[in-house]
Amino acid sequence: MKRILVAIVTLALTASFVPVATAAKAQNNFSITQKIVYVGLTPKDQPDFWTAQEEGTTTETSGQTMLSYAKSTVDEAITFWKQTTRGKMKFGTSRFVIGKAGTAIKHCNDSADKKLAMKIAGLKSIPIGTHLVTVNINDSCGYAGLGEQGGNSLLLKSFGTTTLIHELGHNFYFYHSSLLTCDKSDFTKFNATNCSVEEYGDFRDLMGNDDWCPSATLSATQRATTFSTPKALNLTIGVDTTVDESRMSTDRIVYQFKYKTIWYFFEYYIPGEDRCMFISSFLDKPQLQVRMAGPAWAKAKGSAIGPMLIQRRDADLPMSVVNLGPDSLEANMVLTGFLEGEQFQLPGAPYVLTVKSTGTTSAVFTLTKS
Ligand SMILES: [Zn+2]
Repeated sequence: MKRILVAIVTLALTASFVPVATAAKAQNNFSITQKIVYVGLTPKDQPDFWTAQEEGTTTETSGQTMLSYAKSTVDEAITFWKQTTRGKMKFGTSRFVIGKAGTAIKHCNDSADKKLAMKIAGLKSIPIGTHLVTVNINDSCGYAGLGEQGGNSLLLKSFGTTTLIHELGHNFYFYHSSLLTCDKSDFTKFNATNCSVEEYGDFRDLMGNDDWCPSATLSATQRATTFSTPKALNLTIGVDTTVDESRMSTDRIVYQFKYKTIWYFFEYYIPGEDRCMFISSFLDKPQLQVRMAGPAWAKAKGSAIGPMLIQRRDADLPMSVVNLGPDSLEANMVLTGFLEGEQFQLPGAPYVLTVKSTGTTSAVFTLTKS
């Protein structure tokens, strides 16, 4: 299931993407205990929306109240962010407050909803580390959720775990996990005419278009560039680099390389049983993924574009790299990474990537001058 639309407001439209995390900022400083204050606004015509015990309309909510469902989404989101920061992010006890009937107004006004939620929660201001989550199921703006880069407040219309995690990610300074494609998968013509960026396009994580599941995480690149946990390691040209599978908790799950204004990130991804969303047309093999940040033309494509995953189509390549059986119907396999034995000219830099091996827990690759 793909989220329909998730809007964000960014505070710093002019700030450029900084791949290497600098000093910890207020909202993702691990020394601050994070706290969620959750305010459920209530529709006028459904006064017991949050508390009704009756069977829910979906299997997700059946047998429980909306409030207990909301509490479970907060628990799941906290677990997600603890796991994603390797336990460095601390959370205090969450608080849940329900507004009286008539507070979930049919309108598109996030600042009015925020103000109302603060009043209901008894907050004159929002302390650093506190995240005010306001749910208005009658919000008519058209997005599932609205977060703010480095903010302390978010608005949800759809209050599932996926949207909550995503919008909290914006509060923690995450940009969108994006996707980079070029016409006919030809990355040698690397410009705005031939290539495009899909802002939420990275299938790998919840800052892109993945859905939540208990084993969900963010790409190692996202974790390294926003949280510095783990740190991205610098790779050396011409030297074999061993990179561990990106779900492992070692310190070598992501490598970085900078050429002029462009950053390149390398991580090793093995599609597993725990994959949250299975897309059958996506390459289901161990793969070295390359994400980029910084090309000027790509930055102009959106306000919250984060690392961009390089994606190709096997059918575009002069020779298939997938090695499908003769009976396979997957003629247009989407390649979300590079396979063992592949060589790839880095877009925008005179270097060639060679994937030397892809093992059960780590891969070996090298960059050489082209
Ligand atoms: Zn977003």
